[in-house]
Amino acid sequence: MSAAALLIREGQVSGSNIHILEQSDRLGGSLDGSGSPETGYLIRGGRMFEEHFGCTFDLFDSIPTLTDSQKSVSAEIKEFSRQYVTSSKSRLVRTGQKIEAPQFGLNFRNKWELGRLLLANEESLGTTTIQEYFSLDFLQTNFWIMWSTMFAFQPWHAVAEMRRYMHRFIHLFPGLNRLEGILRTKYNQYDSLILPLFEWLQNQGVNFRMQTEVTDIEFELQDSQFKARSLRVRVHGKETELALRAQDFLFVTLGSMTENSSLGSMQTPPKLQTESIGSWQLWKNIASQSPDFGNPQAFCSRIDQTKWESFTVTLRNHDFFRFMEEFTGNRAGTGGLVTFKDSSWRLSVVLAHQPHFLNQPEDVDVFWGYGLFGDRIGDSVKKKMSECSGEELLAELAHHLRLGDRATRFFAGANCIPCMMPFITSQFMPRQAGDRPEVVPKQAKNFAFLGQFTEIPKDCVFTVEYSIRSAQRAVYKLLDLKQQETPIYRGDRNPAVLWRALWTLIK
Ligand SMILES: Cc1cc2nc3c(=O)[nH]c(=O)nc-3n(C[C@H](O)[C@H](O)[C@H](O)COP(=O)(O)OP(=O)(O)OC[C@H]3O[C@@H](n4cnc5c(N)ncnc54)[C@H](O)[C@@H]3O)c2cc1C
Repeated sequence: MSAAALLIREGQVSGSNIHILEQSDRLGGSLDGSGSPETGYLIRGGRMFEEHFGCTFDLFDSIPTLTDSQKSVSAEIKEFSRQYVTSSKSRLVRTGQKIEAPQFGLNFRNKWELGRLLLANEESLGTTTIQEYFSLDFLQTNFWIMWSTMFAFQPWHAVAEMRRYMHRFIHLFPGLNRLEGILRTKYNQYDSLILPLFEWLQNQGVNFRMQTEVTDIEFELQDSQFKARSLRVRVHGKETELALRAQDFLFVTLGSMTENSSLGSMQTPPKLQTESIGSWQLWKNIASQSPDFGNPQAFCSRIDQTKWESFTVTLRNHDFFRFMEEFTGNRAGTGGLVTFKDSSWRLSVVLAHQPHFLNQPEDVDVFWGYGLFGDRIGDSVKKKMSECSGEELLAELAHHLRLGDRATRFFAGANCIPCMMPFITSQFMPRQAGDRPEVVPKQAKNFAFLGQFTEIPKDCVFTVEYSIRSAQRAVYKLLDLKQQETPIYRGDRNPAVLWRALWTLIK
């Protein structure tokens, strides 16, 4: 959708010449938000932004909000984030007590290793994992607990990716233990980003073909250039071929972190779906045609290392939010992640500003949570998180908050929907050069790759920004536009920013 908007805005392509093929019946992919008070609301995740999401703000500068045609989505995010400033007073909770602005707890060796990582060049790190790089005690520090839960890093993920995050978000270090500098959308990202973008694209005449799965793309080599010739698409089980014309361009999103997501309910856990469909199968078919098209196996073949589970809770009264606001010291929407340090599932919850959905009634509250370690046994509920129903997830949360009998009142009529995502951290898996293809591969004539599994040096995956940057790069390069790509913010080159970050680490 970003590529479509940029094709229209920068490339002067008519909307009616743009066709978006989407396998599901809903747009937005990972930027989801759905449900009602009756069925329960669902968000697979909540997105944190920061002021240097340059491509994102550039794109949404020209997209009006749904409610005010004079206000852009970017302006709304900035205005909302000024009104509800994130500054956590309860980033960690231990034995039922909040810890305000936790100390990092790094020893000399941990600090040295972090400093060395900052100075390392990415190539030298290869496929080294975080647990291979750092001493064991690093993984017990408050720094790691806050870092890993904020960005969803696991010890077996690529340390090269962690290094990129350290460089890219170095300006956030001084406020890391309070989540300062984080910006948020007014509502969930489907309502705040996807719906306005969809409306804008629709007004421009863009065609949306839903429930249309692209199963394969045929490329041909012509004068040492690769040309996309045709697509195979499946609509309601029927396969057909779509031939590309000489003047057509093709933009393909490779892989997806939310592919094969599955839902549970108050009574049932979600079922882990492992078969490879949709985006991963398409990328495998594409990759088999040239080594320049990347290596999906590096990212999608270890579901035991890439999955985790989130949950969305719809509440029928305000008692739990009132309790949490008092307990954390933060009004909903100003605290961000609250992580239970002694939770074996490594549970965190976020209470967003309410209403979080456009259609959310006044007497309903919605919050989100997740656990990094879904295969561990709970501390109160003696089951793996992945085997728990929504009701059991709430019982474990109640234990960590020491709610006791109050849980019955707080969660009366609550609907907790668990969501298992097999590939949620696939983009952090160790990779080698070439595993992520370039946005526009060297020999590509009429196509580009988009999304989290393309290579954009210096920028960070698991962000909306990365996907939008890939769209910007794809459109500018393929159409040979004179516009310069929005530069990636380089706080790591600013001595004052660097000094503040280093001081935060060493003090
Ligand atoms: C739990 C969670 C937390 C997150 N937190 C943050 C955060 O704090 N900050 C942040 O910036 N980002 C965050 N993200 C990441 C961000 O949401 C994603 O990086 C971004 O939305 C990816 O967008 P995309 O369009 O590249 O890919 P996707 O969202 O994966 O979209 C791909 C789309 O293509 C469709 N598709 C795939 N294959 C096919 C096919 N073969 N044929 C037709 N259609 C197909 C899919 O159905 C989907 O609609 C988070 C994501 C999640 C899930």
